[in-house]
Amino acid sequence: MPGYSEPDAGSDLASLRTEAVLDGDEWVVNGQKTWTTLGADADWIFCLVRTDKGVRKQAGISFLLIPMDSPGVTTRPIINLEMDDEFSEVFFDDVRVPDRNIVGEVNQGWTMAKNLLGFERIFLGSPRQASNALSKLRGPGEHYGLLRDPAFVDRYTGFRMELEDHHCLFEKVADKLRRGERLGAEVSFLKLNQTSLYQRITEYGLELMGSDSARLGAIDGNRDLAMMSQFMNARAATIYGGTSQVQKNILARAVLDLP
Ligand SMILES: Cc1cc2nc3c(=O)[nH]c(=O)nc-3n(C[C@H](O)[C@H](O)[C@H](O)COP(=O)(O)OP(=O)(O)OC[C@H]3O[C@@H](n4cnc5c(N)ncnc54)[C@H](O)[C@@H]3O)c2cc1C
Repeated sequence: MPGYSEPDAGSDLASLRTEAVLDGDEWVVNGQKTWTTLGADADWIFCLVRTDKGVRKQAGISFLLIPMDSPGVTTRPIINLEMDDEFSEVFFDDVRVPDRNIVGEVNQGWTMAKNLLGFERIFLGSPRQASNALSKLRGPGEHYGLLRDPAFVDRYTGFRMELEDHHCLFEKVADKLRRGERLGAEVSFLKLNQTSLYQRITEYGLELMGSDSARLGAIDGNRDLAMMSQFMNARAATIYGGTSQVQKNILARAVLDLP
């Protein structure tokens, strides 16, 4: 599981304070991670830890693999809006980790984390979430007899066209990857665009369902009428992997050359 975020280091991840100090051939880790997805079920956590406090904040970070059953690791569940304990806080108190568990070079963790986040944004920028949400819109469309309603057809078709556009964009980026070319800020645009579309589709789903949308379970056993869970997931998609605002900042700097 990714052990990146901390209580005071989310978007500003480089401010992370979980520290690892070398003692013989072991790192001694102290600190706290938060929002660790499935942290309570994980066997391992890959953590960004501060290994040098005397340099620029991005330069003193390393990438460390920590077994979750190490003495001194404590997880505490965080209950989400759906009452699931999907997240955890993870605490490290004098946790000893073999030196060989460092990935790459010491103090090069920031570069690795940035690359990994880039890959995560390609994944999150794939059209699959928006595509799945759009296919589910047909559920309320049928249930409320709206499939021939011009207002429904207009919104549905608009989303469908946006999805096709996004599909083309995603394929263009995927082709670049297949050719072995380096990707730049376009991965931020992929994530921003996909998650925005996903969110707008699920918002419309909720609008169609009216007060029925407050029901967490499926209606009449039809899972395509359970919109709330997807609506909530779409909110989260604009946060994890880097928030939409952060993606806009990256695009502003890298593409628009703004200060
Ligand atoms: C479902 C889910 C799963 C997650 N899983 C993991 C996980 O497994 N491991 C992990 O390490 N983390 C995980 N996270 C945490 C996630 O990476 C952070 O929530 C995210 O990076 C934002 O950090 P934050 O919550 O501290 O918000 P903050 O950084 O405090 O941001 C709060 C608000 O301020 C805005 N903001 C912040 N800085 C700027 C800026 N410079 N310019 C403009 N706006 C700004 C943000 O966009 C946001 O709207 C998960 C989050 C979610 C929702």
